[in-house]
Amino acid sequence: MQTIHRKTIRESLTLKGIGLHSGKTVTLRMHPAEAGTGLVFFLYRNGSKVRIPISLDHVVDTSNATTLGDGGSNRVQTIEHMLAALYTQGITDCILEIDAVEVPIMDGSSRPFWEGIQGTGIQTLSETVEPIRISHPMWVVDGDKYLVILPSDELKVTYHIDFNHPLLKGQSYTTVLDDSILATDILPARTFGFLKDVEALQARGLALGGSLDNAVVLTEDGYLNESLRYENECVRHKILDLIGDLAVMGRPFYGHLIASKAGHALDISLAKCIMSKVTGDELTSFKSKRIPLFAKKEASQ
Ligand SMILES: [Zn+2]
Repeated sequence: MQTIHRKTIRESLTLKGIGLHSGKTVTLRMHPAEAGTGLVFFLYRNGSKVRIPISLDHVVDTSNATTLGDGGSNRVQTIEHMLAALYTQGITDCILEIDAVEVPIMDGSSRPFWEGIQGTGIQTLSETVEPIRISHPMWVVDGDKYLVILPSDELKVTYHIDFNHPLLKGQSYTTVLDDSILATDILPARTFGFLKDVEALQARGLALGGSLDNAVVLTEDGYLNESLRYENECVRHKILDLIGDLAVMGRPFYGHLIASKAGHALDISLAKCIMSKVTGDELTSFKSKRIPLFAKKEASQ
């Protein structure tokens, strides 16, 4: 089986921006870490330092973004764009210091995170990580929304969105997702929102930092931005979110993802489904390797 080396960043780097929902300035400092550290946030707030590992067990909300919590009142939200950039570059171990409850939105895509990591360089570690391989189809469904993963030797995706908007009706995209395709075709796709929803979100204290600098904003029949990065930028961004959300599993993964109108909640549900099955399979294969040894030992007694 192919093994993959764990990786960290070569040197520390700092990204400053605003939080999409809070509208407040955020500083994110990324530091190299030893193999096995995983991806871990340290949240600095009100004179305290709180550790929040990036793991499925720590996902506490998926309603507007993917949010991690420490089990108490400490949270870090909108982790998915940064995570998609880390995943694409194979970063398994990194310390993420942050001074607000939201990862900076930057330009609304994963590109600034990807460029920051490229700028500082990647350190390959001697330890390895075993990729997740899907042995049979798995799926999660919520009404007319669904997300499926099928066995495949490579990572690929077929994504379908269908919003009540002339530009986003029945938009589909299928692609293989290797590192270079992710970097050029997916990570630069910006988040998007509907102008009519902005007021409602802002009344709830959300999207306060949203602007044409960090989102594609859709009007009744078009968009406010001068131009799009891709003609189908919105479906590409949904793929970016999906990869960022599944990266919470903490291991590389292969499979053919098929999504229709999915989002953070289904993404995280599928990740939980995959991990429960994969962990079970790995335990079973571990035990099945062990049983003959025990049997032999007992027979010789
Ligand atoms: Zn997003």
